[in-house]
Amino acid sequence: MTPPAQPRERLRVAIQKSGRLGDPARELLASCGLTWRESRDRLFCYGESLPVDLLLVRDDDIPGLIADGVCDLGIVGRNVLVEHGLAREAQGRGVELTEWRQLGWGTCRLDIAIDEEQEWTGPEQLAGLRIATSYPHTLGRWLAEQGVQAEPIVLNGSVEIAPRLGQADVVCDLVSTGGTLRANQLTPVTTILHSEAVIAGPGRTLDDGRQEIADLLLRRLDGAVQLKESRLLMLRTARSGLDTVLGLLPEGHEPTVMAVEGRDEVALQMLVHGPVSWARLEDLKRCGAHNLMVLPVEGMLA
Ligand code: ATP
Ligand code: ZN
Repeated sequence: MTPPAQPRERLRVAIQKSGRLGDPARELLASCGLTWRESRDRLFCYGESLPVDLLLVRDDDIPGLIADGVCDLGIVGRNVLVEHGLAREAQGRGVELTEWRQLGWGTCRLDIAIDEEQEWTGPEQLAGLRIATSYPHTLGRWLAEQGVQAEPIVLNGSVEIAPRLGQADVVCDLVSTGGTLRANQLTPVTTILHSEAVIAGPGRTLDDGRQEIADLLLRRLDGAVQLKESRLLMLRTARSGLDTVLGLLPEGHEPTVMAVEGRDEVALQMLVHGPVSWARLEDLKRCGAHNLMVLPVEGMLA
């Protein structure tokens, strides 16, 4: 399919209709101030607050829709994007799609998993084996890098039961907690791809007025992501212990230190990027800080 010849002044973003990435993708876009009117078939959402429309599709279709110019951007797992890119390359139809942003959620790994009773000695062990997977190109690339010849068995679902059904010897499948593998007496032994949800787009700027809309959206998105990751850390400490406490603070903005009325104490507050671990709070407490509090940030305007 060739890209539509009609100039298009609206941005079209493909997201998963249902499944693991659908709701978080929609929530992320909504946190950028986007609102939509849904079509009756619930496959298309018309952007009301900004000219950004959504197309709700199966995740596997997202890279193809972008490559064909039907959509401008998509929110999809890196695993799907990489597999699509390699498949296209194998057909000699190389269209470069890139990750415009990494979103930090939807994280999972594409792992090789073997019978839990077996010992893992290394990739050479896979030589000549049948490997069930939905990601034959990504697996093929990894096997080639390892210099190992094996036989990919392509399955579109229920990969983890293939060894029990005698269809394959081992599997190459997506894993987040490993629970599904364990339930099938399989154990992950090596990771061939680390994945997360990404914003996928073409490897070039968009045509018409769409790059401008995309820039606006990405700026809002970066702000929304930063806000979501921000926390306010508050604590009190004796004035004499302040230097020690300052040395233990997590990464973030410079702290504000305030005198506490009528006490030889100071109150401290700082904006932190990312979560503050229990271990960090315990360290601070051990060094004299008390009344420790970590609060979410609802809004921010520097
Ligand atoms: P669709 O109907 O859209 O094709 P699907 O069944 O292929 O849905 P989901 O199971 O919803 O897809 O997974 C979507 C994406 O979520 C995966 O491609 C992957 O990037 C990510 N993901 C995160 N954790 C896992 C996991 N444990 N198993 C599978 N996918 C995961
Ligand atoms: Zn899918």
